[in-house]
Amino acid sequence: MISAGTAPSFQRQSLHLMTTEFLKHLRDALGDDIVETEADGIAPWLTDWRGVYKGNAQAVVRPRSTEQVAACLRLCNQHGVPVVPRGGNTGLCGGATPDASPANVILSLDRMNHIRAIDTVANTMVVDAGCILGTLRRAANEADRLLPLSLAAEDSSQIGGNIATNAGGVNVLRYGMARELVLGIEAVLPSGEIYKGLQTLRKDNTGYDLKQLFIGSEGTLGIITGVALRLQAPSRVRSVVLAAVDSPQQALQLLRLVFGACGPRLQAFEFFTDQCLDLVLSQVEGLHAPFSERHPGYVLIELADTANEEALQAMLEDVIGQALEQEVCVDAALSATLSQLQSLWRLREEISEAQKADGPHLKHDISLPIERIPDFMVSAETRLRGLASDARLFIFGHFGDGNLHYNVSRPLGADRGWAGEWEERISALVFDEVAQYGGSISAEHGIGQLKRHAFHQHKDPLQIRLMQDIKQLFDPKGIMNPGKLL
Ligand code: FAD
Ligand code: ZN
Repeated sequence: MISAGTAPSFQRQSLHLMTTEFLKHLRDALGDDIVETEADGIAPWLTDWRGVYKGNAQAVVRPRSTEQVAACLRLCNQHGVPVVPRGGNTGLCGGATPDASPANVILSLDRMNHIRAIDTVANTMVVDAGCILGTLRRAANEADRLLPLSLAAEDSSQIGGNIATNAGGVNVLRYGMARELVLGIEAVLPSGEIYKGLQTLRKDNTGYDLKQLFIGSEGTLGIITGVALRLQAPSRVRSVVLAAVDSPQQALQLLRLVFGACGPRLQAFEFFTDQCLDLVLSQVEGLHAPFSERHPGYVLIELADTANEEALQAMLEDVIGQALEQEVCVDAALSATLSQLQSLWRLREEISEAQKADGPHLKHDISLPIERIPDFMVSAETRLRGLASDARLFIFGHFGDGNLHYNVSRPLGADRGWAGEWEERISALVFDEVAQYGGSISAEHGIGQLKRHAFHQHKDPLQIRLMQDIKQLFDPKGIMNPGKLL
């Protein structure tokens, strides 16, 4: 577990930061049930989902309203107290974990979990930022609409966290990232001022689109308290196939064929290697190998439509028939029932959990120009084998978006400390390859504390400077989520 080093500014500020006077003001403003200061009550909030990072805090604040968030931030700003926004804590880059400073206040949105409005004419949903994504998806479904943002952690992650990280997930191919689903945002600035941008307008060309700054800001500019989202027509019927491929090159050709044939019905195009399948089958109960033989890679394809299951299934069968004929896949397993569909999806979605169970590993959530993925995979693996010949590679992800989770695990039998020892060398190699191929070091998980160093190394200095200027404008005292992103 990594415990962040003490921030240099901390010692200078610590004396007055940690005064009980601050906590007294906070309790007076918010009430005892909102402010937790007991060590036992704070302890569960100090680590991340993977158990990699651990930090400190003097209080956990769990407001029930935007006004309470504003009161909390105003006080923290006055007293120079660092604030760490906390959603569902499923982020994979340590963004919601405080650093080592005992002055931190963790601000959790979990009690702000009401759906404010659903409109099935305008196809919008206005919600508190602390709503769990899965709950919102079910509420949209009950209203016969689709909230397309979907990821394996959706029953724990919060919509505020999803927006703060500009989350991706499995339906980006059709509907875009979280950013593309946001119509409006309500947020509290470090000053305590409330940014009231919670509108559902589809069109609003009045100057800079400031809500965009909060999307993907990872809690460094303010606290998102409300979100207006765009809904889509429901996916009442779905069809899934798992196609076996000989190579990533074949997966590319398959993508071209399926997109051409199915167009907007193509909802997901997910890839995983046989090593991932092996891991999932060994770590997760109740799953079975989908084919009698094993293949180098697999592509999970989902089509969805508002109606006519038979036509959709026929379309998928037809395109897979063509794929087999044109040799752009080598075998295919079509789902005939909902339970088969769910089992095929679990083979892909359980990979992160299986990796967690397997032990510490190095995560690289990379983005590449899609057509360069096959060459990247050959080149990166060749270099990696030269460095750590028996490391285990688990490559999977949202192939249709050019997004790979390029994860590296310790060799069989190696000590669990292996990942920590090799992290710097292996991640530098992977990110260097990504740069050579014109990609990005973070496709959807963000920067947090995990990729801060690489971010500053690889991002254009002008863009970093502009981001720092924006941060200074929103948060002149630098209280928002220190040690993350910038
Ligand atoms: P947290 O982890 O609590 O916080 C993430 C960041 O956002 C932190 O910097 C935090 O300070 C900030 N933040 C949280 N809430 C707010 C707020 N209200 N206002 C301001 N800042 C805030 N991600 C994907 O994109 N695609 C995937 O497919 C995907 N699959 C995953 C699968 C698993 C099994 C797991 C564990 C994670 C996966 N993730 C994926 C990562 C994670 O689920 C997303 O990053 C998610 O959007 C984080 O939401 P959260 O509510 O858990 O945020
Ligand atoms: Zn992902």
